[in-house]
Amino acid sequence: MEEQKTIAKDFFLEGKGLQTGKSVKAFFYPEKENEGIIFRRTDLEGGTSVRLKDLSILDTDRRSKIGFGQGNYVETVEHVLAALWGAGIDNIRIELDGSEMPALDGSAVGFLEAIKKSGIRKQSAPREVVEIKEPLWAEDEKSFLGIFPSNAFKVSYLLEYPSPAIGRQFFSSVLDPDLFQKEIAPARTFCLKEEAEALLKQGYGRGADLENTLVMDTDGPMDNTLRFADEPVRHKVLDLIGDLYLLGRPIKARVIAIRSGHRLNLELVRKVMVGLCR
Ligand SMILES: [Zn+2]
Repeated sequence: MEEQKTIAKDFFLEGKGLQTGKSVKAFFYPEKENEGIIFRRTDLEGGTSVRLKDLSILDTDRRSKIGFGQGNYVETVEHVLAALWGAGIDNIRIELDGSEMPALDGSAVGFLEAIKKSGIRKQSAPREVVEIKEPLWAEDEKSFLGIFPSNAFKVSYLLEYPSPAIGRQFFSSVLDPDLFQKEIAPARTFCLKEEAEALLKQGYGRGADLENTLVMDTDGPMDNTLRFADEPVRHKVLDLIGDLYLLGRPIKARVIAIRSGHRLNLELVRKVMVGLCR
């Protein structure tokens, strides 16, 4: 039996949000067993919180948002959630004084290092795992995301981008905490150079810069060097791990993703949640 875990002591991280560009402080606190992952906005009157296990997720295709009701939310939660998955944290409370998690370096590594520095404490209750009994999928004309029953958490992801600097990239592996820390957590968020301006005009990426985002030109990232030759596909795997951890507990499944992004990821998470409630 695997036990539930929380962090050994509280800590905080600070930085600007990738989308809003606003500076935010995120405080992380240990939680009791079976409490799950809780996000709390301290800047809203009375302080509003949501628990991932009984969550409502808002639709979006550029980042993942958790709704608090009345139009309030926390966005860009996927990188911290991937780090929590990687550290095996089941119970934690994250308190924010803004609407978006800090971007840090655009990957999950800053969150993972802070969690490890705080220490990880085993609790006595057994860990809840989501097991998939039947295939579930979400798709549109260009993308597909499917999960299938399996004894291990294995992800295969095919990325295809109409840019010579990215092109077609494929990553496939059984995922465990060690592999996550070395091969996935350091992979940073990215966009195409020609996308960057349009995104800014739509109000996205106000906190994005050439350090926390790989802005891909035809021959590679602008003013930056890749941490892995296939860093973009590894970041898509990171996002997928984080989005699946919106379930608030690890999933044991075979995951096949073709050009899947947050919108499809969240559609599938919703389908899994409906199955859990049945
Ligand atoms: Zn991401």
